[in-house]
Amino acid sequence: MSRYTGPVCRLCRRETATSKTGEKIKLFLKGDRCLSKKCAVERRGTAPGQKTQGKPSRQKVSEYGRQLREKQKMRRYYGVLETQFENYFRRAARVPGQTGKTFLQLLERRLDNVVYRMNMAMSRAQARQLVTHRHFRVNGRIVNIPSFLVKPGDVITLGDRAKKSDVFQANAEYAKNRPHPEWLELDETELAIKVGSLPSREQIDTPVDEQLIVEYYSR
Ligand code: SF4
Repeated sequence: MSRYTGPVCRLCRRETATSKTGEKIKLFLKGDRCLSKKCAVERRGTAPGQKTQGKPSRQKVSEYGRQLREKQKMRRYYGVLETQFENYFRRAARVPGQTGKTFLQLLERRLDNVVYRMNMAMSRAQARQLVTHRHFRVNGRIVNIPSFLVKPGDVITLGDRAKKSDVFQANAEYAKNRPHPEWLELDETELAIKVGSLPSREQIDTPVDEQLIVEYYSR
């Protein structure tokens, strides 16, 4: 189990600077810093590297370049390394139906993503750490694997030690204005998450064009 440990704001600036529409798409990789004035996208908004310092790059991007950037953006958004990301795609491609949608569903069903989506962590990186530290149970059993895939009917609960922890209170406070996705239900008294269904495409707000990623892997 490995993960990227370098500077994440560089990754975020790279994807923002190449966004096709020119709007600032943040990947929200740093928790509360992302909403503060210290956010590197707000302060600079250009791609990392000397050549682009001060002004956005005007280099023409090829079709392949667009597909590659979209793939990188989605991979960084979910904090997944290349091999595992490609494995998700291969798995989605074996399922009949729309590969792009199934691919997104697989990533959304990761336990670390569910914890983040339900505002129990400030970022997916923190969610991943909380999961590996054995704070969560799925259907009563401790699960410490961030890539664990939840399914409809699963119930995710916090351990007794975690329920008393200030970290979860602080995270809930930080994310109080962020809406929960409709496919997950939260029992606020028990701090339990119920997986109601698989997410539809409309219920996934990830800012990616998954069709470009399907084309990237189908070359
Ligand atoms: Fe991206 Fe957050 Fe870093 Fe801003 S603070 S550049 S949103 S990761």
